[in-house]
Order: sequence, then structure tokens, then C-alpha cells
Amino acid sequence: MSANTSESSDDSHSTQTRVRRSKVWEYFEQNLVEADDGFKAVCKYCQIHLSTKSGTSSLRTHISHHCHAIGEADRKRFVATLKKPIENFVFDPQLCRQRMIIHEGIKKIRELLKHIDSSPSRIQAFNQIAMVNGLPTKRGIALDIPNRWNSTFRMVREALKYKVVLNSYANQNAEIAPNEQEWTKAQSICEFLETFEEATKTVSADSIWLRVPTSE
Ligand SMILES: [Zn+2]
Repeated sequence: MSANTSESSDDSHSTQTRVRRSKVWEYFEQNLVEADDGFKAVCKYCQIHLSTKSGTSSLRTHISHHCHAIGEADRKRFVATLKKPIENFVFDPQLCRQRMIIHEGIKKIRELLKHIDSSPSRIQAFNQIAMVNGLPTKRGIALDIPNRWNSTFRMVREALKYKVVLNSYANQNAEIAPNEQEWTKAQSICEFLETFEEATKTVSADSIWLRVPTSE
């Protein structure tokens, strides 16, 4: 196989060219090596031959975890590229708009909870509405922690259970509650995040919503 064939339109190369858009190919030799069981990618650092049959995931794992010859700086640079697809999510205009609605809704939820939590009489008023609606009363309301998405998730999930209470509290006290569209978006983002919550439960098992006062 000759070198520098990346511009070739030869059919036998088209599959390889497509697959090679992955960043991981910067860490493997340009040309694959043909073996009995298909093409193999050769690590630039340790020369190991890895199968490319099931895509690039084994190549990524090799560079990010197993290669003993790659330098720490190169490995870190590669690991950083693995996080890119999540950032792309932000730049889709429609998703961006939806995120704005979600963001606006969550902001209103947070502000309303902050307002209620700021005085015992407000919590009492909240609890009275909760009782009327057959929901458990609360001793206090904890807000989310900045940059901890799972604490925001738990705050919103709990707020959704108390949606009727929060709406009517806001109504009675001239406060702002999320509108229906914002509640609906909050609901859908919660359902989406539930899967991640399951995965990270073991990491932080602290209860965010129910803050038990320590001074009592
Ligand atoms: Zn290697």
C-alpha cells in the first residue's frame, strides 16, 4: 500500500476515509495493515495492531487508557477531543431555543423556591396549599448547587411533583411561576436526565431538596 493516498477517490479507500474522520486517527498510522481477519490500525506510539472491524471505539480506548508508549500530554489532548460532541449540542439553533425555554423555566422555579424558603411564614403558606392538594409538607426547601446538574435535576423533579402547589402559591402571592410551556420543557428534560441520574446516584447520594435544619 502506498503512502499519502488520502486524496484518492478509489472505492476501496472510501470506507476508510469516512471512518477516519474520527480524531483518533491522528494517533494511528495513516495506512491500515491488512491481516487475515481484516484491516488493522497501527498505533503511532507503541505500534500495536488493532482491529477496525467494529469502528473506532477500541482505538479510542487504546489511546485514552491502554497505550503505554504515548506521552501524558498527547493522551490528555486526545481525551479532551472525546468531549466535543456534547458541546456541538449547544449550537443547534432549535435545541438552543429549547434550552433557553428550559433555562428560563428552571430559573423561575429556582427563584420561586428561593422566595418560599426565605421565611417560615412562606413555607407555612406553601405547606397549607400542599396539604389541600394531598401532598406531603416540607420543613425547608434546598436549592440546587451551581454547576451541579444533578442537584438542579433533583430540584426540578421535586418542583414538578409540587407543580400545582407552586402555581397556586405564585398566584396567591403575586410571584412568578413557570408557564405551561416551561413546565412541559422542564418535565421532558427531567425525563431525559433521569437516565444520567441513575448512573451517577452512587457518586452523590445527598438529599438536595429536603434540608433538615441543624439548629432545632
Ligand atoms: Zn499505543
